[in-house]
Amino acid sequence: MTTEAASQQIARLDDYSPIIGEAELAELRTLASPLRGRTVQMVNSTALGGGVAEILNRLVPILQELGLAIRWDIITGGNEFFAITKAFHNALHGGLYPLPPESFDTFLATTQQNLSRLNMDCEFTLIHDPQPIALIQARNNHSGHWIWRCHIDLSRPNPTVWQFLEPWVGKYDGAIFSSPEFTKRLPIPQYLFFPSIDPLSEKNRELEPEVVRQVLGRYGIDAQRPILTQISRFDRLKDPVGVIRAYRIVKRYFDCQLVLAGGKADDDPEGATVLAEVMEAAKNDPDVHILDLPPWSPTEINALQQGSTLVIQKSLREGFGLTVAEALWKKKPVVASAVGGIPLQVIHKHTGLLAHSVEGTAYQVRFLLSNPVLAAKLGQQGHEHVREHFLITSNAKRYLTLLLHLLK
Ligand code: UDP
Repeated sequence: MTTEAASQQIARLDDYSPIIGEAELAELRTLASPLRGRTVQMVNSTALGGGVAEILNRLVPILQELGLAIRWDIITGGNEFFAITKAFHNALHGGLYPLPPESFDTFLATTQQNLSRLNMDCEFTLIHDPQPIALIQARNNHSGHWIWRCHIDLSRPNPTVWQFLEPWVGKYDGAIFSSPEFTKRLPIPQYLFFPSIDPLSEKNRELEPEVVRQVLGRYGIDAQRPILTQISRFDRLKDPVGVIRAYRIVKRYFDCQLVLAGGKADDDPEGATVLAEVMEAAKNDPDVHILDLPPWSPTEINALQQGSTLVIQKSLREGFGLTVAEALWKKKPVVASAVGGIPLQVIHKHTGLLAHSVEGTAYQVRFLLSNPVLAAKLGQQGHEHVREHFLITSNAKRYLTLLLHLLK
């Protein structure tokens, strides 16, 4: 595709009108007008892979079109740094922290390197997740507003890691969480923002059936038999091996296929190990399709979601689970674990079905495969639920409101 053709596909604000209506768009423009020209910086740890990059990829251009002088910076670090931050991630989701205390010094040394590289001089600085959290040190030099956007379920953090991070969080002007349940007792104001998907991105726009067929065909997936799909980074907390175990139970009753499609994120060093575990668990079953996708594969993911009979998200812990919103937007019946932000999206028996175990997941999948009318109804209701709460335009509105509030 030429650059020109690619840029023609990037959605402009007016393109959202048929989805959210003119009134919503007008509201966005009104909220943005006092913020025109204001400098805003988003900082996270990867441009590709994972939900945060997915959101920033669309949120930043939308806020730019609304007139904000916004930029997106990505911190850098070596393998050791990202091994540490992945260990933080696992520990904040309630796991053990297996690294020695010196790991905190390494973390802070990488922060210093990023501080000397990055320009942190905006009026509003939004730091995403723990990896760049200590950049708040730059604040001494000027008087901007600093917000920490936490995308992780912090309800049961490992105390060692939380004790290290908490003082950094306390230096911010506020913290944003994805669910009321993730909040902590903090000395700063806390805000609730739902993560979001872009209905017009390559990942979520409606594809021609022929494109879906081609992608399924490319990976040897049979469109004539039920397709169960989980899209996720190969991460133990996404429980891909548990998905295979659930599929095996379902397979006794339905001649179905399983697609486990994932890729690697730059800031997640565990992907290769988990992928090997998944291959081992699949034991060369020709109906289990394990797809190690390149980091930027939005059309493939879109087609796999659209081509699926049913989408599974069997996470053991989850910040929000954007893949759930993506599947619901495509009107897919979803069976997902009742963890993290998933129950905000999957309202049991209304927008999908929740499960708590391998057996429970298998049971709900069998139930929906036997009840296609109900499955379709849940998918339709799921689509409306996403339209109301989890679109990028609502997220943009929330950011604008917060910035206006901080301006005062
Ligand atoms: N994703 C992707 N390629 C993959 C796996 C996931 O582009 O191989 C996308 C997925 O479609 C979703 C995001 O990455 O948009 C994952 O977000 P989620 O909140 O589900 O999980 P996270 O990876 O942030 O824990």
